[in-house]
Parts: sequence; structure tokens; C-alpha cells
Amino acid sequence: SLSDRLGGVFEKLRGRGALGEADVRTAMREVRVALLEADVALPVAKDFIARVTERAIGAEVTKSVTPGQQVVKIVSDELTTMLGGEQADLELAVTPPAVIMMVGLQGSGKTTTTAKIARRLKEKERKKVMMASLDVNRPAAQEQLRVLGEQVDVATLPIIEGQQPVDIAKRALQAAKLQGFDVLMLDTAGRLHVDQPLMSEMQAIGEIAAPAETLLVVDALTGQDAVNVASSFTEQVPLTGVVLTRMDGDARGGAALSMRAVTGRPIKFIGTGEKIDALEAFDPERVSGRILGMGDVVSLVEKAAEVVEAEEAEKIAKKFAKGQFDMNDLKQQLLQMQKMGGMGALMGMMPGMGKMKAQAEAAGADDSMLSRMIAIVNSMTPKERDKPQLLNAKRKIRIANGSGTTVQDVNKLLKMHKEMSTAMKKIKKMGGIKGMMKMLG
Ligand code: GDP
Ligand code: MG
Repeated sequence: SLSDRLGGVFEKLRGRGALGEADVRTAMREVRVALLEADVALPVAKDFIARVTERAIGAEVTKSVTPGQQVVKIVSDELTTMLGGEQADLELAVTPPAVIMMVGLQGSGKTTTTAKIARRLKEKERKKVMMASLDVNRPAAQEQLRVLGEQVDVATLPIIEGQQPVDIAKRALQAAKLQGFDVLMLDTAGRLHVDQPLMSEMQAIGEIAAPAETLLVVDALTGQDAVNVASSFTEQVPLTGVVLTRMDGDARGGAALSMRAVTGRPIKFIGTGEKIDALEAFDPERVSGRILGMGDVVSLVEKAAEVVEAEEAEKIAKKFAKGQFDMNDLKQQLLQMQKMGGMGALMGMMPGMGKMKAQAEAAGADDSMLSRMIAIVNSMTPKERDKPQLLNAKRKIRIANGSGTTVQDVNKLLKMHKEMSTAMKKIKKMGGIKGMMKMLG
């Protein structure tokens, strides 16, 4: 995957003293391969590499981070920029009804996405939404939208057989105005390929409806084709945003990276499944983190930063730096976990903890387990907390008795400590919590 490949690149940069031009160029060659493999369009990848290279060469390496981390930060910043910088909302602040026109090829997910957005506007923003299908090409297309409307409890324009798209649009506008709808969603027809009749139809509807938003719906799985489709539409229809569908499963994400560059418009949503609630706002920062394979670490650090006092973080950072992580630290961590909403929430976010979380869940672990674990640490002597390797069978029995648990529980805790130490070492590789926080600004 893109994140695996990039991870390998940065791994190689680790431990070097300064960010030399040769290092950067070598790394960028691999980043380029990684981008192309992920279906990023060639000109977009080239442009990206040029910008990162320029910023990376001669960049001062901050004391607390390694050159590799510095490059990760630069790549991550540029990825975020490339993905549109900030999250872009729908802009519907016009005299109602605000028209949202959905365009794209047949099968890209227009009709489904129309219903998904309508549902979202209704549920999250309490908007009164009407949907109308202008797809007279495909038999039963209008019926498909009507059924979806029933499913999400959103009004649809009554179907009149034989009416043409532009006339349906006029009728929809009138109905939405008269009946006081806030938003009118127009689901248009697609074609198998981009062609002139399709573009002309979109232009004609656009002139009638004067949409506040014209969203291009593209299938992320089609990779380079998605990019070509986007560039054709951009030339002929004034788009305001993009929706990338089928971002569930194993979409390689390259299409997302190319979209902004090709259309000059933000990705506003991603479709993540066939279900009607499988729609997410597109967050460039998060996606760039995910591409770099550090998204979860980023969330973890952000969440930790909210709760852990700066002083505490400093102390823990020092321990990480020395590669120490004793039972007292574990206890601190357990207490923090309690504060942060329990084990499951936290373990899911920690690097290398996914497997443990599954194990814990399989063993019927819950948050009462957290209290038991803290009790176990409390029953250890200061020496034992410093050096858990002292814990022989006899000591374990004593601790189990003292904490009202079993030797098995004590063993589980020791195992967890060991796995956590390993995970912590991973964080240490990235410069420790402090380094990571610095890196994240
Ligand atoms: P249209 O021809 O552009 O209107 O496309 P449709 O909305 O009819 O969707 C075509 C197919 O793609 C349907 O089977 C949808 O359920 C499916 N689909 C749409 N969006 C997504 C998505 O985000 N993920 C997945 N897995 N399927 C989707
Ligand atoms: Mg359709």
C-alpha cells in the first residue's frame, strides 16, 4: 500500500545527521513510485515531488526530530495541501431553495450519493430537502431515487413519464420554491463515457437551476479513469466540489490525491459503502495522515495532548528517550486510559496494539479490567515496579492475593507491559511523544 511504501522510504532516512540533497532525492524517487502505484496521475505526482524536494533540501532539521521525521512532516503538509488543505463544507447560504446538482458518469454513485447527502442534510442540519431525478436515459432511474427517498424519508419530485431533463428541472425548482424546501437536489443522468450530449445536457440544466453546488461524483476505484473524467467535466461544467465514492474496501486513494489538482475544487465527501449512511466529510489532514500510515498515531497524540498535562508528557517523553518504561509508567498510562474513555478506545489507536485489543476483547476484557490492573500494580513493591523481571512465581502469588486477582491476571498484565514497551519503542523511533507533538505543531 501507499503507506507501507512511504514508511519504508522514511525508515531509510532515519538516523542520518542532516537532510542532504542526495538523501532527499533518493527518498523522493521512492515516494514517486509509491504515488504512481497508488494511481496518482503522473503530472500531479511530479508536481508534488518537486514541491516536497524544494522544501526538504536545505530545510533545517530541528534538534528534537530526525531527518526522516522532518521529511515525513514536509510530505504530510504537502499531502494535506494537495488534498485541499482544510475540510470544505457544502455552501448553501443562498436564497432557498439551494440547488445541489449531482453530475458524473453512469454507475459512479450519483443517485446513491444524492440520497446520502439528502439524509445527512436532513438529520444533521435539519434542512427540508427535496430530491428530483433528471435521469431519463436509464429505465427505472427515477423510480430508484423515489425508493431511496422513501427509505430516508426525504421528499422526491413526483415522476411524470416522458418529461425531458430541463423541464423536470424547471418543475422541480418551482415545486421546491412553492413548498418551501431549503435544498433541492438534482440527480442527473450519466453516460458510460464522457461525451458531448452529456456535457450539453449538464450545461442546460445548470443554466436553468443555477446550482449553489455542482458536485462531481467519481468512483475512486477507477483510478486514472476517474482523473480523466474529472478533467473533462472541469472543462465544461462549473464544478464546486467532488464526491469520491467507493472509498471503502481497497480503494488506493490515488484518485483522491489527483482530484484537487485536476479540478481545482475540494473533495467534499467520500462514499464508504453501499449503505445510506456510508458518507463521510472529507478531511484532508486526516486522510494525509492515513496515507502516511500515521493517522492513528496522530489521533492518539492529539487525544493524549488534551488530557496529559505538559509536565507529565515531558516526564514520559524522557522515559521513552531512555527506552525505559516501568510499572509506574504503566500505572500512569492505565490511569490516563481511564480518563480517556477506557481501554478499547485507546488500544485501538495505539501502534501495535490492534492485536492486543482483539485478544483483550476475546478474553472478555472490559473497563473493570482497567481497575484490576491498577490494583495489581498497587500491590507491587517499588522495586518490583522498577524491575518487573523480578516477579517470580512466589511474588506473583503475593501480588495476586494482595490485589484480589489471580496469577493469570498478573501474567496478563506483565504481557501487556511487554507489548506496550514494544509499542512505545515504535513511538520512540518517531521521536517520542514530545517529538511527535512538535512535529505536529
Ligand atoms: P449512478 O448511476 O451514478 O446513479 O450510480 P448509483 O447511485 O446507482 O450507484 C451504482 C452502484 O454503486 C450501486 O450499487 C451503489 O450501491 C454503489 N455505490 C454507490 N456509492 C458507493 C460507495 O461509496 N461504496 C460502495 N461500495 N458502493 C457504492
Ligand atoms: Mg443514477
